[in-house]
Amino acid sequence: MNLISIPAFQDNYIWVLVGDDKRCIVVDPGDAAPVLQAIEENGWQPEAILLTHHHHDHVGGVPALRAKFPHLVVYGPQETQDKGTTRVVEDGEKILILGYDFSVFATPGHTSGHISFFSFPYLFCGDTMFSGGCGRLFEGTPTQMYQSFQRINALPEDTLVCCAHEYTLANMKFALSILPDDPAIQDYYHKVNELRVKKQNTLPVILKNERKINLFLRTDDIDLINKINQETNLQQPEERFAWLRSKKDDF
Ligand SMILES: [Zn+2]
Repeated sequence: MNLISIPAFQDNYIWVLVGDDKRCIVVDPGDAAPVLQAIEENGWQPEAILLTHHHHDHVGGVPALRAKFPHLVVYGPQETQDKGTTRVVEDGEKILILGYDFSVFATPGHTSGHISFFSFPYLFCGDTMFSGGCGRLFEGTPTQMYQSFQRINALPEDTLVCCAHEYTLANMKFALSILPDDPAIQDYYHKVNELRVKKQNTLPVILKNERKINLFLRTDDIDLINKINQETNLQQPEERFAWLRSKKDDF
């Protein structure tokens, strides 16, 4: 399958997986217009939609896509049931789409019913993980989000993390403010900065690299622990995760 990103709104990406026969799967179509345009231009045949959570910038395009393609199967968590989902899925389910197995796992934190879809090497994690950062906690707790990050971190290192927003540069500015001398963070910040100057996409990212530069995945890192200990003393990794999230909220 080919992975394609369609930019939408200010900084959303709508991901599309396209098979050799041009049948495709659309992930979190917040807006129908750019998806319909890409379908038209490329001759794709949409078969399924995957929804990670109920926010409008992820589900807003579903009614128009279903009107145009009535056979579409829309997979989503319970919280998307009134957003056009035709098949509610939950943690632990395996679904077969276009001959590929997708695992569904719960990744609460950003919303309480947020789910992610994984079919190696593709992970569609919505607003849970961003490159260099993590989603805002609108409905869940820092501990829930920490656990969601642990589940993502347990995936194979070659997993391609398909995040739903282009937030990488802002996240790396934040990471540099916490660990200004970290070589991996410095290198990635410069690389991302160059890409963004040219208005290029920084996603998807490989989990192996994300483990080096995403502080929310480095809550057991000695440099981060030392940094936090200058201010306060936190024993548990989930407490350090919460400390980072609240720092980012104020950044
Ligand atoms: Zn959201």
